[in-house]
Amino acid sequence: MERKNAWKSCDEAKLAQVNALCADYIKFISDCKTERECVEESIRLAEAAGYKNLNDCIEAGTPLKAGDKVYANNMGKTLALFVVGTEPMEKGMHILGAHIDSPRIDVKQNPLYQDEDFALLDTHYYGGIKKYQWVALPLALHGVVAKKDGTVVNVVIGEDPSDPVLGISDLLIHLSGDQMAKTLSKAIEGEKLNLTVGSRPVMNAADDCKEPVKELILSMLKEKYDIEEEDFLSAELEIVPAGKARDCGLDRSMIAGYGQDDRVCAYTSLLALLEMEAPKRTSCCLLVDKEEIGSVGATGMQSHFFENSVAEVLDAMGQYSDLRLRKALKNSSMLSSDVSAGYDPAFAEAFEKKNSAYLGRGIVLNKFTGARGKSGSNDANAEYVARVRRIFDDHKVCFQTAELGKVDVGGGGTIAFIAALYGMEVIDSGVSVLSMHAPWEVTSKADVYEAKKAYKAFLLDA
Ligand code: MN
Ligand code: MN
Repeated sequence: MERKNAWKSCDEAKLAQVNALCADYIKFISDCKTERECVEESIRLAEAAGYKNLNDCIEAGTPLKAGDKVYANNMGKTLALFVVGTEPMEKGMHILGAHIDSPRIDVKQNPLYQDEDFALLDTHYYGGIKKYQWVALPLALHGVVAKKDGTVVNVVIGEDPSDPVLGISDLLIHLSGDQMAKTLSKAIEGEKLNLTVGSRPVMNAADDCKEPVKELILSMLKEKYDIEEEDFLSAELEIVPAGKARDCGLDRSMIAGYGQDDRVCAYTSLLALLEMEAPKRTSCCLLVDKEEIGSVGATGMQSHFFENSVAEVLDAMGQYSDLRLRKALKNSSMLSSDVSAGYDPAFAEAFEKKNSAYLGRGIVLNKFTGARGKSGSNDANAEYVARVRRIFDDHKVCFQTAELGKVDVGGGGTIAFIAALYGMEVIDSGVSVLSMHAPWEVTSKADVYEAKKAYKAFLLDA
């Protein structure tokens, strides 16, 4: 039961469409490397497509009706977008849900110190990373510093070609005999991930100045951002690979970029929704934070934000009741838009070939994920899988099915099981990725195109 390669149906006209979409996508992931940046840019795109802030509508007392487009912004890190359908919401919605946080290295709350003549920031990694992949490469710092006076300072260092980059050092090979004998998980340990930010003492330092290199960094932070050392206590600074995503391969068939898990599904889901006009079923795109650490917190999928937003939409339509809210959620159909592990011939032993996702063979349906006997997974209903297959076939979407690697080799999860708590139909579906969670992940342009097409088909026809 081999699935066909999506490139095979690609003529010159389609190739131009694939490349145009992927050029926009490359720009999106180059500009948006944090959940906050994704929300900000998604709101910009949504407003350009006619979406209004749901809170503004509520405050103005503007009732919502079929065809209206609104978004709800949760702390600048989670976004729910709705286009109101012509059918009552209690019949259910069509939902595309993706996550916009990605594995990275966060700066600690008390991070800055001097060691010999270096100034460094102490870090705590976020999500599942292979720590050895994050040393000896150019890194950038993205995030916010919230000050006691209520102002929030935006920080992006390392992206503009005129910016400096930052980095985490690795031991030279000449002295690495002991390190090379360690297992990969021990070769670079979490507390060794220290970001070097300076090496020059402040000029005219007093003789009793014990940390002149740190002093210079602090004086620069004060000058450029008007922040003090104590302001690190209320900062969220994320260390990510520096530089733009770009075409990959001599044939330019792929994309190399940071954070494609899961922004490749987030971006294509968002675009699919933004193209929807007055659908029958209320359609929704949900972009959530904190998936990589278990969907926890007020901005993760486990929070009540989505449910509350649906309640607000119902209320703004004059239709709210607790029962209608429950029905709207229970009767919904969802694609949990998240990435799959792309088959890698170099590590063939980790995959079972018949049930692997292949780059270039279209969007992937994962009936289940999980580990050790599907534990922790959402196992989509066969009837629902049939419905989604039918939609994809009707719309000539190139798709494949897969599991996450060989049985008992490992595992993973998504937001699917959390949405399923409402009793709605949900299945994981997304783009396959090579080197997932590495600083530079690789996807196929053909799959990005098929994903967008699949999400649109789902919204139209589920
Ligand atoms: Mn993911
Ligand atoms: Mn992930």
